[in-house]
Amino acid sequence: MDGLMMDYQLTLPAMMRRAETFFARKEIVTRLPDGRFHRYTYADFARRAKKLAVALKQLGIRPGDRVATLCWNHHQHLEAYFGIPAIGAVLHTLNVRLHPDDLAYIVNHAEDRLLLIDQSMLPLLEAFRSRVNLERVVVISEDGEAPEGMLEYEDLLQAADESAFHNSDLDERQAAAMCYTSGTTGKPKGVVYSHRALVLHSMLSAMVDTLALCESDVIFPVVPMFHANAWGLPFTAVLVGAKLVFPGPHLDAGTLLEAMEAERVTLTAGVPTIWLGVLQTLDERPRAYDLSSLRGLVVGGSAAPKALIQGFQERHGLKVIHAWGMTEMTPLGTVANLTSELRQAPADVQLDYRAKQGLPVPFVEIRARGDRGIVPWDGQSMGELEVRGPCVARAYYNAPEAADRFTEDGWFRTGDIVTIESHGYIEIHDRSKDVIKSGGEWISSVALENALMSHPAVAEAAVIAVPHPKWQERPLAVVVLKEGHTVTAEELRAHLRPHFPKWWLPDAIAFVEAIPKTSVGKFRKSALRQQFREYRISADGETSEDE
Ligand code: AMP
Repeated sequence: MDGLMMDYQLTLPAMMRRAETFFARKEIVTRLPDGRFHRYTYADFARRAKKLAVALKQLGIRPGDRVATLCWNHHQHLEAYFGIPAIGAVLHTLNVRLHPDDLAYIVNHAEDRLLLIDQSMLPLLEAFRSRVNLERVVVISEDGEAPEGMLEYEDLLQAADESAFHNSDLDERQAAAMCYTSGTTGKPKGVVYSHRALVLHSMLSAMVDTLALCESDVIFPVVPMFHANAWGLPFTAVLVGAKLVFPGPHLDAGTLLEAMEAERVTLTAGVPTIWLGVLQTLDERPRAYDLSSLRGLVVGGSAAPKALIQGFQERHGLKVIHAWGMTEMTPLGTVANLTSELRQAPADVQLDYRAKQGLPVPFVEIRARGDRGIVPWDGQSMGELEVRGPCVARAYYNAPEAADRFTEDGWFRTGDIVTIESHGYIEIHDRSKDVIKSGGEWISSVALENALMSHPAVAEAAVIAVPHPKWQERPLAVVVLKEGHTVTAEELRAHLRPHFPKWWLPDAIAFVEAIPKTSVGKFRKSALRQQFREYRISADGETSEDE
């Protein structure tokens, strides 16, 4: 027997219609490059998004065509978030921090037809324009000017007639947006979001046990709109009718804190590096900013250090909400909120749980696979996390070479090595290519690195696997000492000993001047593995370097 409910399509225009109908007077604020605030209402936003849709259609953009953006977080970018998908075209957010070679590859791979670009990004476009087939470039300019051969955004909107906008019959399964993963190995891969996934993700993000977003919130997405759609926050804000504040291009701690105070921000989100800077500024000037409206800082993208969570809480009364996700998951996967049971636990246990990556959000199913199959949820056994759900990618765009990221029974292999404890909270221990597989058991390189870096003489530490005749792989720690400090390998091992099983301790510790890093400041372990490729640890633990 069929259900007798309407076949109502879950699409982005339906979210925008709700916002303009019920929240027309709510504000959207943008910090401009010169520091001033631009403000307008949801009514203005919806009108301009529709004008953009009409203008794009007039320029020949058809359903399914990719329209790229190369922009910071601002109201015009929000107009693109809704105006492009409203005509069935696909919003493709390009990462402004990528190398021109990667941008050329991505624009060609996605076959972008048109680009919306911030004026300040024009030099970046210059570096790859001759290698791509963009038919048109529309400049969001600060002075009303656009270079010869390009269109200016305000001119384009001015010429478009809002009344020519008609709600198209969109299928909720059709593509609305796409985003390439930065991928530390191989070529970037495209993730294509359907309208349905974006709507469902907005709903599950807003739920009380996720981020509890509602109409009275003031949402400040610091995470860039080109990084997994600013974790879906612009979409969710429009769905619930929350006031939005966009930071524009300046992301230093002082500028962010000023905006949070001035606009009475209630919830903000970004990567740990941003919040480490903010915490330092607050520690230096504890009473300089009134953040009494702020109820949560969402931290994700990489692990939120315990000291960060504790520092905000204990010294400034601010709550960090630790979350894990992936571009492939639209992107929220887990949030480290405490269940009512855990809220009764001692403070240190609560902190431990808030520092884990958390419980899956609704409709994210999880399991972890080790060398011997699916691992138990005992908080000890490590395995690669696999996920499935309505907001999880089922394939990458035109990338048959990446088919092995999806299991035969329909799960996505995240590449993250986790333990899952009995309640279902996950903890990320490593990326699958970095975990050290010693005698059939797995050693977390991240855990060893964190412990090494807590030694007062150590500035940086990276741990990599080196081949071993008996155990297959053993850990090698590569350590940079703080200036003026000395410590021996044996002293470092003694520092680790109380915290780890004996077989986890690195067999060898190499002292170096510097550890190679990626463009976003992560350790470049592939370079380290290359550097130490001749390093051998013999069966009796002797080390040698046969170069
Ligand atoms: P991206 O798709 O660029 O957002 O990167 C996703 C990857 O970032 C995940 O697979 C994790 O390896 C990492 N990641 C994201 N959030 C966290 C977190 N809270 N803790 C640890 N790693 C994280």
